[in-house]
Amino acid sequence: MEVTTHIAIVSVPVYSHLRSILEFSKRLVHLHRDIHVTCINPTFGSPCNNTKALFHSLPSNISYTFLPPINMEDLPHDTHPAILVQVTISRSLPLIHDALKTLHSSSNLVAIISDGLVTQVLPFGKELNILSYTYFPSTAMLLSLCLYSSMLDKTITGEYRDLSEPIEIPGCIPIRGTDLPDPLQDRSGVAYKQFLEGNERFYLADGILVNNFFEMEEETIRALQQEEGRGIPSVYAIGPLVQKESCNDQGSDTECLRWLDKQQHNSVLYVSFGSGGTLSQDQINELAWGLELSGQRFLWVLRPPNKFGIIADIGAKNEDPSEFLPNGFLKRTQGRGLVVPYWASQVQILAHGAIGGFLCHCGWNSTLESVVYGIPLIAWPLFAEQKMNAVLLTDGLKVALRAKVNEKGIVEREEIGRVIKNLLVGQEGEGIRQRMKKLKGAAADALKDDGSSSTMTLTQLALKWKNLSLGVA
Ligand code: UDP
Repeated sequence: MEVTTHIAIVSVPVYSHLRSILEFSKRLVHLHRDIHVTCINPTFGSPCNNTKALFHSLPSNISYTFLPPINMEDLPHDTHPAILVQVTISRSLPLIHDALKTLHSSSNLVAIISDGLVTQVLPFGKELNILSYTYFPSTAMLLSLCLYSSMLDKTITGEYRDLSEPIEIPGCIPIRGTDLPDPLQDRSGVAYKQFLEGNERFYLADGILVNNFFEMEEETIRALQQEEGRGIPSVYAIGPLVQKESCNDQGSDTECLRWLDKQQHNSVLYVSFGSGGTLSQDQINELAWGLELSGQRFLWVLRPPNKFGIIADIGAKNEDPSEFLPNGFLKRTQGRGLVVPYWASQVQILAHGAIGGFLCHCGWNSTLESVVYGIPLIAWPLFAEQKMNAVLLTDGLKVALRAKVNEKGIVEREEIGRVIKNLLVGQEGEGIRQRMKKLKGAAADALKDDGSSSTMTLTQLALKWKNLSLGVA
């Protein structure tokens, strides 16, 4: 009789994290049809349409449950989206605990895999006497920083951002303090304390699954794996997992693709800042002028400015982009550029032959999507760990140009025009295109079904889980 092995996934209410962990789940059940995944999702408010669409396309061996939305009425109306996520996670823990206990008593549950933002779940595995893993939807470099953060905290005094020398982490590219993730920019802040606490819990994991592939971060992954057994949990590179098919079907998508069909090969710059990222009004003006100055073709996914630089619910809004663009911009760039409000089917766009570059905020999904389709990048990091990703892409892999920010935190129009031209038609861009092409090949190899690096790693894990459910491990 065939035994179904059951795995529980615990996600967080962040679109990009959810998209990544669901992609992982799909990959797992695609390669191993005798595994069943149940995804437990904490929520605040009702999930937006983009989030719902992620669940519609799941195969039958992935079940999911949305936990009751967390009441946030005691929080100020304008609470930062990152805090809302943290509060949702902490208030959902009893519900997650109950859902896991129920699943454990009713199925052959052998492992819990929880997102890297919800490390509080790791002890639940110990309590149920099953394995407990972290799914890390970012780089091995960020993971190294997390695992070494307590050591850095003990050995470095003062603010990291004031250090004159870059910080050295085993196996990683040296990184300036100003390029470290947001919580490390203020060591007296609550976010820094929470960052350290969350990182300590990583050590409870039976393993950490990183959404990257060996060839893209070879030295870092090797350095982490060398520390296995000396406290650092086993690290498994199982990527690049990106969603290939579009799960939204908006009218603007057809318009984008039709427009791209009319453009020359490799000629268009795609401009987008992730699932919620946006710019200040001043920066939107500079970007518009920079696009104009560059003389290049572009497809810009544009959102209104807001004070956080991030919009939590993309689906609900409908402003007219011309309200926050320089006067006459749309008219002057007509034919050469297309502005799409709020959202576009990014993977379909990146897969289109007309795209020659991606001006990207360096969110990890977007970065991997660019790699999978071999699109050279302009790194324009905004928040979270994106500056670190930009360092990997520019200093490390040399597949991106980084736009320079002035002392007021603005990228000026001349600089924008310069990097765009350099990437699309310059010498530097040509070298980047070649290196990105090589990386694209390595990414495809890592995911071949014939036992290539990431596939083999995931299969070894799956075999371990299946053996556990058969009682032979
Ligand atoms: N995305 C999309 N259309 C958009 C903006 C974003 O499909 O208009 C998708 C993009 O393809 C990626 C995800 O949203 O998979 C964004 O994730 P990422 O990690 O790049 O950035 P974050 O949203 O965390 O800032």
